[in-house]
Order: sequence, then C-alpha cells, then structure tokens
Amino acid sequence: MSRASCDLAIIGGGVAGLWLLNLARRQGYSAVLIERDRLGGGQTLASQGMIHGGIKYTLNGALSAASETIASMPGRWLSCLSGESESDPDLRQVRLLSNDYFLFSDGRLSSKLTAFFGSKAIQGRVENLQAAELPPFFRHEAFRGLVYRLQDVVIDTPSLVKTLAAAGQPAIYTGNYTLNTGDPQNPVIELEDGQSIRPKQLILAAGEGNGELITRLGLPLTMQLRPLNQVVVKSAELPGLYAHAVSLKSADKPRLTITSHESDKGRTAWYLGGQLAESGVERSDPDQISMARRELAVFFPWLDLEDAEFSTLRINRAEAGQGNGQRPDTPFAEQFGNIIVCWPTKLTLAPLLGDEVMRLLGSPGNLAPISFKEAPQIGNYPWEEPDA
Ligand SMILES: Cc1cc2nc3c(=O)[nH]c(=O)nc-3n(C[C@H](O)[C@H](O)[C@H](O)COP(=O)(O)OP(=O)(O)OC[C@H]3O[C@@H](n4cnc5c(N)ncnc54)[C@H](O)[C@@H]3O)c2cc1C
Repeated sequence: MSRASCDLAIIGGGVAGLWLLNLARRQGYSAVLIERDRLGGGQTLASQGMIHGGIKYTLNGALSAASETIASMPGRWLSCLSGESESDPDLRQVRLLSNDYFLFSDGRLSSKLTAFFGSKAIQGRVENLQAAELPPFFRHEAFRGLVYRLQDVVIDTPSLVKTLAAAGQPAIYTGNYTLNTGDPQNPVIELEDGQSIRPKQLILAAGEGNGELITRLGLPLTMQLRPLNQVVVKSAELPGLYAHAVSLKSADKPRLTITSHESDKGRTAWYLGGQLAESGVERSDPDQISMARRELAVFFPWLDLEDAEFSTLRINRAEAGQGNGQRPDTPFAEQFGNIIVCWPTKLTLAPLLGDEVMRLLGSPGNLAPISFKEAPQIGNYPWEEPDA
C-alpha cells in the first residue's frame, strides 16, 4: 500500500470542487480532487448554465441582497471566458451559448415593474426592446407582450466541466474510494488500488453528498434541499431561445425559465425551469408534462409542439441550511478545524466561493504533487445520457 500526503483534498467534482482545484493548484498547493461518480454529474450539468446578474430577483420592483450580490458576476465570468482574468480560471475553451438573456411577458407588465425597469437603480442592466429590435422568434402577430434584454449570459456546462477537468489533470480521481474517518479531524482517503492519501486539509464540495459527509464527520451544520421537476422538450421546430417568461399573474418569479441546447436528430432541446419546475415537484410526471404543454401554449400560441418529445428531470438544489428554508443569497464556506464545508449556492457564484475558500486556507506546504494515471470520467447533460 502506498501512502501520500498533500495540502488539500477536495471531495466532489461539480463546479465548486473543480473551480477550487484550479485556484489551489495555481496558488501552489499540492491538491487532489476525489469524485465518486462522473465529473459534473450532480447539479452542475443539470443546471441551466445561466450566469445571471440578478434581475430575476427584482420582479417585485425592488433591489434586494440577492440581486446585488450577484450583479457583478456576468462581468467576472466574461473575463474568464476571454482568458483575461489573472486570478480566476482560464475558460477560453468554454462555449458561450448566448450573449443575451431575455425577459418577456405574455401581456403588459405592472406599471410599477415597467417604471422600475426604466429607473436609474438598474440602469444598464435591463434594456427594453422596441418592435424592430425583437429577436425573430417574437416577431409574430400573436405575440402581444414586452421583451427586455438582460446582461445575463448562458454557458454550455459540459464544456465548462471539460475545461476545468483538463486544467485539473492529473490531480483528479474518479471512482470508488473510502473516506476513513477513524480520526474525524484527519480523515484518510483510501483508493481502490490500495493507495491512501492523507490531506492536511479537506474540502467538502460534494453538493447534496455533503449531507452524508457532515453527519459522518459530526460537523455542526445543516444542508437544505430544494427539489425541482424540470422539463425537457425536444423538437426540430424549436428556435434557440434563452429567456424568462413572466406574467401579470405571477410577476415576482419567472413562470418559465428557458434555455436551449443542441440535441440529437437535428433537434433543439428546450430545458424548462422556473415556477413550472418548483411547483411541479408535487405533480406526477405525466401531469407535469401536461402543465408544461399548457404553459408553452400560453406564451407561444403559434408554436406547434404536436410532435415534440417531452420528458421530466427531478433534481435537488443543495445548499447550506437557512433555518427558514429560504433561498440563500451568497455562497457558503465554513471551516471546522482541518475541514472546510462549502456550497456555491449557484453556478454563477463559483468565483465568490473561490475567493472565500482561498481566504480560509493555510499556506501551501512544500509537498510533491499527487498524480493519478487514469483520465477522469466526465458527465454530459442528463437528458442526453443514454440511460436518461
Ligand atoms: C435544475 C437546476 C438548474 C440550475 N440552474 C442554474 C443556473 O442557471 N445558474 C446558476 O447559477 N445556478 C444554477 N443552478 C445551481 C447550480 O447548478 C449549483 O449551485 C451548482 O452546480 C452546485 O455545484 P456543486 O459543485 O456544489 O455541486 P454538484 O454539481 O452537485 O457536484 C457535487 C459532486 O459531488 C459528487 N459527490 C457527492 N457525494 C460525494 C462523495 N461522498 N464523494 C465524492 N464525490 C461525491 C457528486 O457526484 C457531484 O459530482 C441550478 C441547479 C439546478 C438543480
């Protein structure tokens, strides 16, 4: 059996773990990442890939902590995507799916919201599009609503995972392992091939998997899960659309959040979240599909989805427990002796999580890097997986 020490072992290979591995290695830590399944295969590849600037949190007509924490994130990601960031990962290989994100209504919005969108408070973050500026899809006689352009961008999450994984090699291990917690403050990672790794610090970045790990390690904190029932619609009729659909009836949250992804047989996959996914947790999957069809007919009465293929995807958002079950506004990172537990809260907030975790780490030791021979297993969009 071989034994090795390193500064840092990160458990979990979603965006949080991969981002932290990238920062840690660049700052001279001997670091490894241990993923029990496939990289990205938790929430990260199931997310909608929106890097948002917080406008969807202002639909009650006011700024909030949630809308302001996140406001600078599109800019920060764009500098990673152009390779210009000195401190964050170089994401030049990541595909940008859309430079624009739209917010549109099925009718007129309330005067309060229209005034707010035109106000100085959010100047530059929301642009009201005139008829001539509408994306082609909305230039239909049946469309009677308003369209706004937001600063948000949408990324292709498989290319994000691949890019971060490539930068993290050969320090990434995917597969079975045992976390030996005989000494809970100094857990040892035992791999299947007999190799064992003793990290000076352990970072739990395992998303929903953090729940089991914090219980085993006896750490005094809680996790909360917010379940979603997302809908995937595949059809060759669908245009590439990236938009929040809102209406007068429920203007404080998007009724539908739509992202578009290339699919098989020349089809586009629309991935639908928003209120549909939140309230859909209570519906059976056939009822959820009927509901999705009804919602799409409200917003796009001209769209023929007769032959479209619908499916559902149930997945939990995993976050630090808030006591009141509310959505947290910021990333979470807390240190308990040699162990740091973290959740980014959103893909968008990965850079802020990186700042916070790097602040918590001690200095790098002078330890040799650890390499794994096998290339890591990488996931894909869950609706494109063969067994999905
Ligand atoms: C449907 C949906 C849509 C979303 N859309 C957006 C969006 O558009 N924009 C946005 O900013 N955010 C979005 N989010 C939130 C975002 O996806 C998450 O905040 C983020 O991906 C969490 O990353 P993570 O690395 O913490 O967790 P995960 O991506 O879940 O990764 C955790 C990893 O840890 C692994 N793991 C678990 N247990 C163990 C263990 N014991 N040992 C080793 N490995 C383990 C898992 O296999 C997994 O790969 C969305 C979330 C969902 C569910």
